[in-house]
Amino acid sequence: MQYCGKEQQNRLEQDVQEKSAVSSSNRIIIIGGGISGLSAALWCHRLGLSPLILEQNSELGGQLHQIYLPLVDYPGFQGTASELLQSLLSQIHQGDIPYLLEQKVERIDYKSNVVYANQQALSYSALIMATGNRKRELPLLSPFIGSHVHMTATGVMNQLADQHVAIIGGGDGAFENALLVAPVARKVSILIRATQPRARQSFVEQAIKTENISLYYQQQVQAFLDDPEFRGLQLTHTTTGEEEKLACDQVIIKCGYTPALDLLPETLPLPDSQLQISDQNVWIIGDVRNPVDPCLSVCVGEAAKSAREICRYLNV
Ligand SMILES: Cc1cc2nc3c(=O)[nH]c(=O)nc-3n(C[C@H](O)[C@H](O)[C@H](O)COP(=O)(O)OP(=O)(O)OC[C@H]3O[C@@H](n4cnc5c(N)ncnc54)[C@H](O)[C@@H]3O)c2cc1C
Repeated sequence: MQYCGKEQQNRLEQDVQEKSAVSSSNRIIIIGGGISGLSAALWCHRLGLSPLILEQNSELGGQLHQIYLPLVDYPGFQGTASELLQSLLSQIHQGDIPYLLEQKVERIDYKSNVVYANQQALSYSALIMATGNRKRELPLLSPFIGSHVHMTATGVMNQLADQHVAIIGGGDGAFENALLVAPVARKVSILIRATQPRARQSFVEQAIKTENISLYYQQQVQAFLDDPEFRGLQLTHTTTGEEEKLACDQVIIKCGYTPALDLLPETLPLPDSQLQISDQNVWIIGDVRNPVDPCLSVCVGEAAKSAREICRYLNV
């Protein structure tokens, strides 16, 4: 467990020992340490609230760790996602804003205002859920994860060198990975289920121009086959039902994301246009509420809005 912020640490440890549901003064628990959670923490701190970030991974940053191409659509900033993250982290450290890593929130008692993570019970005055998106998996390919099937190209580039790599998906992630892999791979095939890619135009144009990248439309993946005669994917055409085999050595799954909403019970439905769940001291921000249009600027804007609303709610 890692921690930042000495004064808050004492308060936190005392609270954890007591396992009490008594609320620390204006403690705002933020679940998720991606750009939404980090921005919310900065805003809460600036407005005189006491934020505490709980992050399940061993580092802060969330999806910022998965963006490799330079950011071109974050107003007022020119650089990489990694540089943006470093800048956010230095602000978090300057503000001595506390965070706990490797703290997966398992359960929330919305009536008592208590969050349960790694057998700790932490009370809150207000809760910000910034849990983002989770990668969509293809269970049919699960047995080959790690050997011939990967969730991303990062970390496995040496396995992809001189190979025919099939990338499943038609969004930004699929095209970004294809462009990263193309210089080292022998061939890259992007398998898109729809009739058009969802990825931004600039990625698509770049992929079309790249000699060793091929695009296949309306292809549904059925299985990965690995026997002495054939290694590759079994595909079905989504309209004609025609079956086809695509020989390939390695596969990357980039089938998009699904919102990490499991902590929200059905009795507390996701609010339509508001960030706050009505009659609750709970705010939902970032990709977890915008899975169709994930966007850094929206995350940051919603973080600022939620912090300001919480101030009004708590009369701070
Ligand atoms: C490849 C790629 C390229 C992109 N390019 C751009 C771009 O150019 N421009 C742009 O505007 N946007 C881009 N995006 C989208 C942008 O990255 C996201 O909108 C943004 O990072 C989402 O931030 P978030 O904090 O809402 O969620 P996330 O970054 O997903 O963070 C959520 C965090 O919550 C944690 N968490 C989840 N559940 C729990 C739990 N139960 N307990 C504790 N912690 C939990 C997760 O571990 C994670 O760290 C891109 C995304 C990807 C993947």
